[in-house]
Amino acid sequence: MRKSIDDAVDDHPADDDERPPVSWAVAVSDDCDACGAGELRIVLTVEEQGRAGYGLVAHLAPDTTRRLRAALGDALPYELAYPEPLAGGTVSDVDTPLYDACSSFLAEHDPDAVLLPAVNAGFVDSYFMRNGWGTVCHGFWPTRATPLGVMQSTVHNRDERIHVDDIGYATRFLRHAARTVVG
Ligand SMILES: [Zn+2]
Repeated sequence: MRKSIDDAVDDHPADDDERPPVSWAVAVSDDCDACGAGELRIVLTVEEQGRAGYGLVAHLAPDTTRRLRAALGDALPYELAYPEPLAGGTVSDVDTPLYDACSSFLAEHDPDAVLLPAVNAGFVDSYFMRNGWGTVCHGFWPTRATPLGVMQSTVHNRDERIHVDDIGYATRFLRHAARTVVG
């Protein structure tokens, strides 16, 4: 089985004699005899445009493909955009001492982190806290070791869990928040 996924040409000016236009193609295959029958290979072909068959063909195993994908992702700068002004959770404003405590904890322990709103399928009693007493509630639990997929699919949900290293890390945040907000 061999299936084409995508192909394109590069973005260097086409009239440069020093560097001819290059095309790349990505396909998936599992029938390379040398790699082993049934072994999944991502086939990356890079060749001079118009010289099909004279380029380089790489057979990448899944782990090598993930590494290449990560390298491409790391190389591409990204930009955060805020199409609407930031607003806190369902009710709480972001202009609060508690929100400031979240920011100052990250500034100290995880300076590249950015506080952003998130939506998940769980439920938490902060809804009643806000409604009943006007209490400021932000859902913030800093983690460094829990896989993001585990965190996002279980928080306030069935089988909720975190990596043991994050218990100590988040406890440091709770102490920081208590000292910063209450004094
Ligand atoms: Zn092969």
